[in-house]
Amino acid sequence: MSLQQNCPVPYKKKVRLSRHTTFGIGGPAQFWAEPGDVSALSDLVRWCRTRRMRIRVIGAGSNILVADRGVKGFVVKLNAPCFCGIARVNGRVIAGAGAPLARLIAFCAGAGLSGAEFLHGIPGTVGGAVVGNAGSGTLSIGDLVEFVVVMDYNGKISKLEAKDIGFSYRRSGLDNVIVLQACMRLSVCAPSVIRRRIAQYARMRRLTQGSGWRSAGCCFKNPGSESAGRLIDACGLKGSRCGRAVVSRIHANFILNDGRAAASDVRRLMRRITSAVKKKFGIRLEPEIRIWQ
Ligand SMILES: Cc1cc2nc3c(=O)[nH]c(=O)nc-3n(C[C@H](O)[C@H](O)[C@H](O)COP(=O)(O)OP(=O)(O)OC[C@H]3O[C@@H](n4cnc5c(N)ncnc54)[C@H](O)[C@@H]3O)c2cc1C
Repeated sequence: MSLQQNCPVPYKKKVRLSRHTTFGIGGPAQFWAEPGDVSALSDLVRWCRTRRMRIRVIGAGSNILVADRGVKGFVVKLNAPCFCGIARVNGRVIAGAGAPLARLIAFCAGAGLSGAEFLHGIPGTVGGAVVGNAGSGTLSIGDLVEFVVVMDYNGKISKLEAKDIGFSYRRSGLDNVIVLQACMRLSVCAPSVIRRRIAQYARMRRLTQGSGWRSAGCCFKNPGSESAGRLIDACGLKGSRCGRAVVSRIHANFILNDGRAAASDVRRLMRRITSAVKKKFGIRLEPEIRIWQ
């Protein structure tokens, strides 16, 4: 029987992922679905499981580099309203995985809840941020999380407390589940103070990262207390390019898509960077961006 007759949710074929990533790079997803609710998601997950078909969840696509030939299986976007809600519950905020961080921050500022300001300018969703433990400076979203609600690849839903998630620098123990919701503990503060802090973060980002470029943020994790950007800069690689992929002249840890860069251009540039840093400093840089192939 064909996939069309069987699949429990509506889907599209060959959806270009370059349109769904901040890099603007990537070939097609074999199948693309936007389940309308948790039960549709669970039906799809179980259906894929019985067919040994891979499912990947995409958030805002701001931390992934998708291969030029695309990816097999389903790419699922949790953008239906039931995955994107944000609510205040006592001093906590419960946010759906599909909610953009920008909306979470605006919500918290309006509600007089402080603690999430450092996430300002990170163009991801709550789900993507929690999975990658996104952060800035010494702060990461895992520091705020009290629990997350997840679905495993059998369609089973459970609640995981922060202490069982294994948050560490740009990492969590959530790579093999689908995040549905995160509950974060914040503190009460005057909205005007929160807005001032957000403005400070915005200013800092404009200065250190520039704006208007297509990228996926930092390509490499900082090794220990070192800055990957400083190491790359010290290798003289700012402005270095492979095809249409170029190392930012403002932030050496950002690779930019200067037009119609291919994923292979970015990969080649990443290899050039890792080998230069290894040669000069003896340090092996680890990618921060996720590579989908
Ligand atoms: C200009 C710019 C600045 C950035 N600055 C920062 C920064 O300061 N700090 C920082 O940490 N990052 C930064 N990033 C990187 C990126 O924005 C963050 O990592 C962000 O949290 C990724 O979220 P996303 O929704 O885009 O995830 P995606 O890129 O869509 O996905 C990332 C990974 O998470 C998985 N995923 C997404 N949603 C779910 C879900 N609901 N359940 C299970 N898995 C899921 C995906 O499968 C994938 O493996 C920046 C990126 C850009 C482009």
